[in-house]
Amino acid sequence: MDEVMNNIIEVKNVTYEYTDEDNRFTAVKNLSLDIERGSFTVILGHNGSGKSTLAKMLNGLNKPTRGDVFVDGINTKAEETEIEVKRKVGMVFQNPDNQIIASIVEEDVAFGPENLGIPPEEIRQRVDSALATVDMADFKKSTPHHLSGGQKQRIAIAGMIAMEPECLVLDEPTAMLDPKGRAEIISTLLRLNKEKGMTVVLITHYMEEAENADRVIVMNDGEIIADDKPKTIFSDVKRLKDVGLDVPQTAELLYKLKSEGFGVDTHALSVEEAAEQIIKALGTFTDSEEK
Ligand code: ADP
Ligand code: MG
Repeated sequence: MDEVMNNIIEVKNVTYEYTDEDNRFTAVKNLSLDIERGSFTVILGHNGSGKSTLAKMLNGLNKPTRGDVFVDGINTKAEETEIEVKRKVGMVFQNPDNQIIASIVEEDVAFGPENLGIPPEEIRQRVDSALATVDMADFKKSTPHHLSGGQKQRIAIAGMIAMEPECLVLDEPTAMLDPKGRAEIISTLLRLNKEKGMTVVLITHYMEEAENADRVIVMNDGEIIADDKPKTIFSDVKRLKDVGLDVPQTAELLYKLKSEGFGVDTHALSVEEAAEQIIKALGTFTDSEEK
């Protein structure tokens, strides 16, 4: 039996340089990173930190200037396996309008699998199942044009799912959406990961979207400066602020309380956990006042 690799993606000492005319700009600097199969990873970083450049290297859209990226063991530089790499790692971008091609939802979702030469009967099944997964089955016959941003982005995700990739890389998929649309996308991604075992790499600048990830990677200036569980990452409020990132409001509140001398645990991240910490701290405060 073939040994199943634990990592779907391996980035090995990768540098990416943009060269136009006489200018050379290094956007990703000797970066290494493994993405474990079935994991949910969030990549954070302020504008210009190299997130999109890295994302495009994860399915061969960008080829490293130096170093190598392996997808399921295949080097993305190998020309003969380029399509295989793109089938294994699907990419979703910021603007849903640029990703929707057809004028009927089901045709749009079918577009990818059609290009892969999948038989029509199977395409029909895949389209129905992909639309159900993103909770858009009722909109099968709709015109994408009339849908909300969040719905359109879910159609774009369905189009990727219908190609049955092993991993989805999403580059700021919620950046153009309202809070409701953002929440729809995040819950769709969490469900895809938990229920279907899809590997998810989500690039975002919204901290709250990282709360439920297995792992959070923080990029700055083309490098990884932190790589840990969300609670650990967000408890280091000062470090995140130093690289121009906002922290979740719960983390910031607890951080401020702690620096004022309250005995709170800054690892609490959800509103419920944070409230628990504050109630506990208030309890001790009241006790000492009474004495
Ligand atoms: P992020 O997605 O984190 O905002 P990018 O990967 O888009 O970062 O960009 C990283 C750096 O590379 C930025 O400083 C950006 O100006 C530069 N860059 C991005 N695309 C190009 C390009 N096509 N040509 C030259 N420089 C680029
Ligand atoms: Mg970007």
